[in-house]
Amino acid sequence: MKATNQKVYISTAIDYANAEAHLGHALEKVQADVLARYYRARGREVFFLTGTDENSLGTVRAAKEKKVPVRSFVKEKSDHFYKLREALDLSFDDFIRTTEKRHAQAVQKLWKKVKPDIYLKKYRGLLCSNCETYFKKEEAPDGCCPVHGVKLEEVEEENYFFKLSRYQKQLKKIIESDELKIIPESRKNEVLSFINQGLEDICISRSSQRMQDWGIKTPEDETQTVWCWFDALINYISALDYGKDGQKFKDWWVDNPRKIHCIGKDIIKFHAVYWPAFLLAAGLPLPQVILTHGWLTVDGQKMSKSRGTGVDPFKLSRDYGSDAVRYFLLREIPPTKDGDFSLTKFKERYNADLASGLGNLFSRVNKLAREMKVEPGLAGLETEQAIKEVQQEYVQAMARYDFREALMSVWNLIAFCDQYIEQEEPWKGEEGSAEVVADLLFVLGKIAKLLQPFLPQASQRMTDQLAGKKESGNLFPRLK
Ligand SMILES: [Zn+2]
Repeated sequence: MKATNQKVYISTAIDYANAEAHLGHALEKVQADVLARYYRARGREVFFLTGTDENSLGTVRAAKEKKVPVRSFVKEKSDHFYKLREALDLSFDDFIRTTEKRHAQAVQKLWKKVKPDIYLKKYRGLLCSNCETYFKKEEAPDGCCPVHGVKLEEVEEENYFFKLSRYQKQLKKIIESDELKIIPESRKNEVLSFINQGLEDICISRSSQRMQDWGIKTPEDETQTVWCWFDALINYISALDYGKDGQKFKDWWVDNPRKIHCIGKDIIKFHAVYWPAFLLAAGLPLPQVILTHGWLTVDGQKMSKSRGTGVDPFKLSRDYGSDAVRYFLLREIPPTKDGDFSLTKFKERYNADLASGLGNLFSRVNKLAREMKVEPGLAGLETEQAIKEVQQEYVQAMARYDFREALMSVWNLIAFCDQYIEQEEPWKGEEGSAEVVADLLFVLGKIAKLLQPFLPQASQRMTDQLAGKKESGNLFPRLK
């Protein structure tokens, strides 16, 4: 590896601080965390960012409904999302809140930078109070937000607009050429067709009065508040001290090409069109990859608290452990497509792959090693070949951000070990049996390493036990 190009910057979308975390939030964070841990394990320097989006009108309304001051309301919600760190075993390096001073500074700075592309205009449109987005009549034939289903309000205001139309050609080229790579291809095509329909200028401020004095004011006009998406997207650089031109900004954004945004498919337009346009206007480098996951359903139904289909990631983690939750999300849900959660499927996966597959192999080999007093050795020819093949598949899958395939390759290695035991029958204690067990211990060490980004706790327990440090016990007790 070259000395340059060593850094990897990874971010998730920041979560609205107006509701509780659900399994969809967990999916995105776990995906990003696997990338972060994977690159760190490969010797890369990683900066992994997540956080909360606290400046929207939806937040103000939710706080008022609860009769709580907005500031303490968002603090509580932000703390709630921060706690996913423990529940999901996340390894983020920073957590940005958009109510922080460093963020407001950065937003005002970027606004000033793109000012030649900003103008004032009277505007009437249909606004969703949930995503703070204006829609055209034809985009919302039933008068409801196509994303949130919320009734749209007709609003007339004088606002600041950003000349998005100016960047149409440039954006098209950047995305077509994969200079900004959108994963999967189907999302890339969706973005291109959106651009090809013609980009109109977008409204990037709201009246401060309607915002009930919440949010970040535009730099030279107190009567206007920065639109929450213009505001929120800047979190990716405000956390790097863009606001005061910090060294972090230079190191991680300007001089580092490897920048990955992990997001959900519903906010692709904001990330693949608006955000790069703001950056182009400010003369700043673009992100490299936008990795887009799909939607999660629960028992085939859209997740919704009112329908009782919301799944609480905290409870799931308390009941089954963070590794089990991570494993399900990474192995069962296709990384860039929609997927479905059900407790039945969760338990089936757990029992088949974790308890019977990995857990069983690990305890079986360790038991043999104890009985036969065998220490880990070097891999024999046959096992070495199997390890090599799996390592290759694994690295290729990770290069495609295909977490599922990467895990499947590790499970191929587990299946190989099971077969190897059946074939060699080391428990018979015939000549060469000790070598077979030593071999298997060696492969288990490799499996622990490959699983580290995915199942950090199990991986640690395996490593400790193999090093003779600590008995790991049953890695994954069977569920009833
Ligand atoms: Zn909406």
